[in-house]
Amino acid sequence: AQQRYAGLRDLPATSTCGTTIQLYMNAGLMADLPSLESSGAEGVGLFRTELQFLTRTKVPRRGELAALYAHVLDNAHGKPVMFRTLDIGSDKVLPYMKPQDEPNPAMGWRAIRVGLDKRGVLRMQLQALIRAAIGQPLHVMFPFITEMNEFEEAHKLLMEQLAREQRLGHALPSDIRVGAMLETPSMAFAPKKFFEMCDFISVGGNDLKQFFFAADRENEMVRRRYDTLNTSFITLLEQIVQRCDEARVPVSFCGEDAGRPIEAVTFAALGFRRLSMRPASIGPVKHLIRRVNLSELKRVIDDARAAGEINLRRPVTEWLARQ
Ligand code: PEP
Ligand code: MG
Repeated sequence: AQQRYAGLRDLPATSTCGTTIQLYMNAGLMADLPSLESSGAEGVGLFRTELQFLTRTKVPRRGELAALYAHVLDNAHGKPVMFRTLDIGSDKVLPYMKPQDEPNPAMGWRAIRVGLDKRGVLRMQLQALIRAAIGQPLHVMFPFITEMNEFEEAHKLLMEQLAREQRLGHALPSDIRVGAMLETPSMAFAPKKFFEMCDFISVGGNDLKQFFFAADRENEMVRRRYDTLNTSFITLLEQIVQRCDEARVPVSFCGEDAGRPIEAVTFAALGFRRLSMRPASIGPVKHLIRRVNLSELKRVIDDARAAGEINLRRPVTEWLARQ
């Protein structure tokens, strides 16, 4: 399949109405980096940093992490890499962390909640990222932001680490961009100030969907019960895009759904201009985007919504079949 889309690699994902969607890839291992070149991705829209913590018997050392992140940046050859700080918690228990007995780990002590409560590890990771990106731009994003103050605190922690590096006489990254992952419905209703504070926002669709529908993404009994193209969820996504546009903050969608062509063109029609997905999905998604008129698709979505459809998959796929 990769072969089939190879010809598209250097072509932009531009719709027939002239809108270009930037396609990024998700990664989490050094071994993923060669795909940046072969897939034609614009950069790494989500670099999950959990694996390096999960595969050790103790907390990795700062120097070790800094070397690893520097290696990632070297292998990205100037393309941006959005590093997400540790999204660890009850379900992904670190072997060296005291296990917490939580009834609902996905809604428990995880991600930025752990980072802000046990600051040592987050501080160390931020220092490693800063040292890895000396002289180049650094993109950091914080996972699972549920209230604006969590972003403010995490942002402050990052700024403190920068000041510390400077005090120590170390060189700094040339630029720092700080983003939030929007993965809980609460943040769609956050104060405008939150959107203005972020340099970029990334919608974590996997978590956002599970919390919107109250359906555990790990539970086979319910995980496929609610469709991503359910009208209510699409309307939530549209509102998120509008809020980001109002605050002029770039927004991307980085859940698994971004890699499904029908979902991807729907997100693009809603106004997402950046999508991040597994590298193998870039070809098929680009192929479809290049064949559709996004403003017409937006009209199809609006009409179906006005007609009271509770799910947009049928109208969208029927329209796509006619293109
Ligand atoms: C998400 O929730 O959509 C996401 C990208 O993060 P993860 O899948 O790592 O939770
Ligand atoms: Mg998530």
